[in-house]
Amino acid sequence: MHKIALIPGDGIGPEIINETVKILKAVEKKFKIQLQLIDGFAGGASIDTYGVPLTEETLALCKECDAILFGAVGGPKWDHLPKELRPEQAILLLRKSLGLYANLRPILLFDTLNDASPIKQEFIGDKLDFLIVRELTGGLYFGKPKGIEKTQDKIRAFDTMEYTYEEIERVTHLAFETARNRRGCLTSVDKANVLETSRLWRSVVCEIATDYPDVKLNHMYVDNCSMQLILNPGQFDVILTENTFGDILSDEASVLTGSIGMLPSASLGDEKPYLYEPIHGSAPDIVGTGKANPIGTILSAAMMLEYSFREKEASTVVKKAVEKALNEGYRTYDIQVGAKKVVSTSQMGDIIEKYIKNL
Ligand code: NAD
Repeated sequence: MHKIALIPGDGIGPEIINETVKILKAVEKKFKIQLQLIDGFAGGASIDTYGVPLTEETLALCKECDAILFGAVGGPKWDHLPKELRPEQAILLLRKSLGLYANLRPILLFDTLNDASPIKQEFIGDKLDFLIVRELTGGLYFGKPKGIEKTQDKIRAFDTMEYTYEEIERVTHLAFETARNRRGCLTSVDKANVLETSRLWRSVVCEIATDYPDVKLNHMYVDNCSMQLILNPGQFDVILTENTFGDILSDEASVLTGSIGMLPSASLGDEKPYLYEPIHGSAPDIVGTGKANPIGTILSAAMMLEYSFREKEASTVVKKAVEKALNEGYRTYDIQVGAKKVVSTSQMGDIIEKYIKNL
């Protein structure tokens, strides 16, 4: 029995999680796996009921589960709240409290969506399939001090970007291991020509590289990387980078695949539970319209089956069912190029569920 904390959150979160639950139920039946789904609140949904973005109870629930499946949090309704009470704090708190220091974001362009990519085929090359490993619990988002100071004649805002040797070391090992199990190429992205944190980053990565002689390492400045993602994305296998750079580069990379709604992620630490979520936010502009693409969340569940439960076959079937739905020409509203039929969020869930049963 695998226990899963199910946290839909806000905006389109409940809609995409609903579809993913359909998929998990189909997987349970087909592969005789037992999944216990336990609901939890986070983000605006928690603020409205309990006054805080993440309660002790929800955190305790997550800690006792084997994995967490997360939708998205945030929305204009809560934008006026002070920083520590904003919905987005929920996901930051979960990552930090559970020690989820590595965020894995596969960037895969399904063949059938080639035309949906804004990049011309000649730049995409034969296949677009790489993975971004983003450090998740350090850097600018967590560094102290941070704040805004107001004096009579001046306003000053500041954040601190800091990394310890150990924070870089553990995520670097994970990235090398991941590269070893893929095509054996690792690109470490930094800004070592300007930032001290990047100089430490690069020296730690170089030191650890000696443990992985079978992995080909190269270094790239983040500004060049953002350009290379458009000019020659096929050159990448695994990209390793720090928190802020990874946040921005992975959103940029997501567009290559046709839509941000397609992309899953897994956040890993040294021990369970790991957390799985699509890379997009709560998309307040399309809530309740049936336009949300559930595939990023469904593929996040596929990652959960593989990484947390070691159910590789079930994971592969989910991915194949998604691919079949796309190959048959079904698209949600965010990707209309090549669509034979544009379907709603729940119709897409139904179609993928049906293919899982029949594959
Ligand atoms: P967003 O990712 O929610 O939306 C960006 C654009 O992509 C919007 O046009 C949206 O409609 C579209 N989009 C996103 N997901 C989609 C999907 N599954 N299907 C179809 N279209 C999709 O980013 P944003 O607008 O910058 O942020 C909205 C809210 O989400 C904010 O409150 C932000 O703080 C929050 N947010 C939360 C997370 C998280 O929970 N991990 C991550 C990013 C943003």
